[in-house]
Amino acid sequence: MNLQTSTPVCFLLDADNTFALQLHVTEECNLRCKHCYSEDWNKHISFDKFKDIIAQLQEILEMSKLRGIVYLTGGEPMQWPYIYKSIKYLVKHRIKPRLLTNGTLIDDKTALKLREHGLTLAQVSLDGMQNTHDNIRGKGQFERAIRGINALLSAGIEVTIMVTVMQENFDEIDQLADLADDLKVHRINFGRFIPIGNKMGLNELTAQQTRELYEFLHEKEISVDIVHKDPFDAIIKKENEEHNCNSYGGCSAGQFLLDLLTNGDVLACRRLPVAVDNIANNKLLDIWLFNPLLKKIRKRTSISECNDCDLILQCGGGCRGMAFVINNDMFTKDPQCFSEGQKIRNFIKLM
Ligand code: SF4
Ligand code: SF4
Repeated sequence: MNLQTSTPVCFLLDADNTFALQLHVTEECNLRCKHCYSEDWNKHISFDKFKDIIAQLQEILEMSKLRGIVYLTGGEPMQWPYIYKSIKYLVKHRIKPRLLTNGTLIDDKTALKLREHGLTLAQVSLDGMQNTHDNIRGKGQFERAIRGINALLSAGIEVTIMVTVMQENFDEIDQLADLADDLKVHRINFGRFIPIGNKMGLNELTAQQTRELYEFLHEKEISVDIVHKDPFDAIIKKENEEHNCNSYGGCSAGQFLLDLLTNGDVLACRRLPVAVDNIANNKLLDIWLFNPLLKKIRKRTSISECNDCDLILQCGGGCRGMAFVINNDMFTKDPQCFSEGQKIRNFIKLM
């Protein structure tokens, strides 16, 4: 996991009536992926720190009456010495543990141990079919990830495949969906690549490709669930007249979830590389309730360019992370917007 391929918070699962914490427990990782710019490879949180963070999360859960989920991520969370113990601890405290992993360190034995400690759902990243994945993550890593997926399934753990879609794997999304079907995982998630930091030759999609991606996700039929919770899903739904006018969507950054790094920095989303605060300064509950930047991020009317769009409540101006990284301003319109309605309105304004 890393800034570019860690799960975007809008794609996290079981989001209803829950508060989710995406918790980076270690910076250590057995891989050196092209798209990762972590330089601090040896830092992980202590188990006491983990317990303190969970106590802070429980304050949020008690106040909000929401159920809790913790997404254990890194680095590679299987490198964290307390991974099994923490899963057991979460289960004991009625918080659902989820594992976000590259899958390469999981074999039959470790998968069974994860299950025995209470893990029921894991997410494994695939960056493409074999050549593409290995080109990005290192030779042999695709096979190791597939071995991990199979081991998790055999142990009775639900598996989600996470694909971060970029120019380099755009032509493989169909094959990846079929692979998910063949492997009989439980779902496949597609998220947009956001070019944070050193891209190392990897490239984000164009707006047209983004449209094609979300059209594909709506049309593709396989027996496993295809997850598409991107703010731009609203555009496709509108065009297909599937839209429920009362639905409220868009970027989920900072809403019922937060992202916590090993250094204590709190982010609204891992793909929006701006720390809103640090738990050394304030408690998680106070940050979630009172942080002014989080409040602004949540507002649907913060994006002036989108104020005349009839999808503003459902789309919210798209991904704040993409806007920040490309436009250097998180309160601008997502540059990958492909709304025809908006293009027509812009055209009329110029006439
Ligand atoms: S114009 Fe703004 S609100 Fe409308 S679809 Fe595009 S990004 Fe979303
Ligand atoms: S910034 Fe918003 S839309 Fe973008 S990945 Fe995060 S939650 Fe999703």
